[in-house]
Amino acid sequence: MSRSAHPAGPRHADVLTEGHYSAPAADLNALDEKVWSRTVTRDADGALTVGGMSVARLAEEFGTPAYFLDESDFRARCRAWADAFGPDADVFYAGKAFLSRAVVRWLKEEGLNLDVCSGGELTTALEAGMPAERIAFHGNNKTVAEIERAVGAGVGRIVLDSFQEIVRVAHIAQRHGVRQRVQIRVTVGVEAHTHEFIATAHEDQKFGIALADGQAAEAVRRALTLDGLELIGVHSHIGSQIFDMAGFEVSARRVVQLLAEIRDEHGVELPEIDLGGGLGIAYTSEDDPREPHEIAKALSDIVTRECESAKLRTPRISVEPGRAIVGPTAFTLYEVGTIKPLEGLRTYVSVDGGMSDNIRTALYDAEYSVALVSRTSDAEPMLVRVVGKHCESGDIVVKDAFLPADLAPGDLIAVPATGAYCRSMASNYNHALRPPVVAVRDGEARAIVRRETEEDLLSLDVG
Ligand SMILES: *Cc1c(COP(=O)(O)O)cnc(C)c1O
Repeated sequence: MSRSAHPAGPRHADVLTEGHYSAPAADLNALDEKVWSRTVTRDADGALTVGGMSVARLAEEFGTPAYFLDESDFRARCRAWADAFGPDADVFYAGKAFLSRAVVRWLKEEGLNLDVCSGGELTTALEAGMPAERIAFHGNNKTVAEIERAVGAGVGRIVLDSFQEIVRVAHIAQRHGVRQRVQIRVTVGVEAHTHEFIATAHEDQKFGIALADGQAAEAVRRALTLDGLELIGVHSHIGSQIFDMAGFEVSARRVVQLLAEIRDEHGVELPEIDLGGGLGIAYTSEDDPREPHEIAKALSDIVTRECESAKLRTPRISVEPGRAIVGPTAFTLYEVGTIKPLEGLRTYVSVDGGMSDNIRTALYDAEYSVALVSRTSDAEPMLVRVVGKHCESGDIVVKDAFLPADLAPGDLIAVPATGAYCRSMASNYNHALRPPVVAVRDGEARAIVRRETEEDLLSLDVG
């Protein structure tokens, strides 16, 4: 996305016309509360603190790179989502964004349900005590073994993703002597990403069963005839990092239309619809996400209106935010290593992590912000690219940002809003040791996922 402002930084005048970045903040020491978790502030020495603990202490105890997760913020966001949707709706946290046993316990305590999409996520959820009936199981290619375990554990719902899976789950449920509650995932022909959505033929993807051509209606027909299945509703998930509710509007309208067709054909009104996740968060100061209560109101207004016009009872709504809950609650702390000023271009700032702890910039051209956090500085802003230590020139953490020109090796910098899809997508590329996730709350910090060690690496390498 092209950005408008062209700051007049004296050292980098040549590239300023490229314009992929916004102007440096008036005060580089300020911490925009949109992108930092709620308890983040600076202490009297200018060091960033989270949950009452300074990054200097945290770095000393846990090392860098590391993810620091603001536990009270995480819990507050869970409650905000649960309160916004109220008792007549269900909020499922999408575990793929970041899952650990501690997170499962927090979700359980705060009244949320949990989406899983693999055997590993299911095991983590069950192991940490999430009641099976509060778990939904997703995925376009669940293995027979995974379905066996999910059905055997008694998960609350399985979201069916193909014609083959309808039969497979029905068969396994029958063998277990149960009727498995299921939803059918439909592709509604809407794809939404950030500020845009496209309401044309987006059936060309691996997920779900297309509404177009009557495929979804046929899937419903089959599911209704199978004894092993209790069809409770229809599921739709339209994209990620969405700010505009228009895509949800089209999706809800099409899903409700399908419910009306099902009523007309089969005489049953399915009791639930799931509108998926994908709600956007602020990665930079230019993003303006909506609050859960605004999202809840918008979705329930849409569904209520569509159901009234189709003369349907309003179904129970569920939503599946992942990023919107965990994303804003964590930042990644790095130590600055090599600093390479490229005259007339920009300054490359290398950190002790990179694409192994945050693949999103390389994978999706994601935008992040960054701040010097071990101290404040009154130096001029310099245009930087924050890069990792991996053997790949695409190993970029923050493509364009401003940091103080007196930045030096050994300084700590932090990238906010890395709670979602960073640790969960982390890799061992270059035999990097995946960083810990440290939960911080009320002056206490504890690793909820510890740092990987070289022994961990060697233990998998069986010679
Ligand atoms: C990924 C996913 C989500 C969560 O998406 P976020 O962008 O993290 O909110 C929810 N539901 C389904 C089916 C998904 O695949």
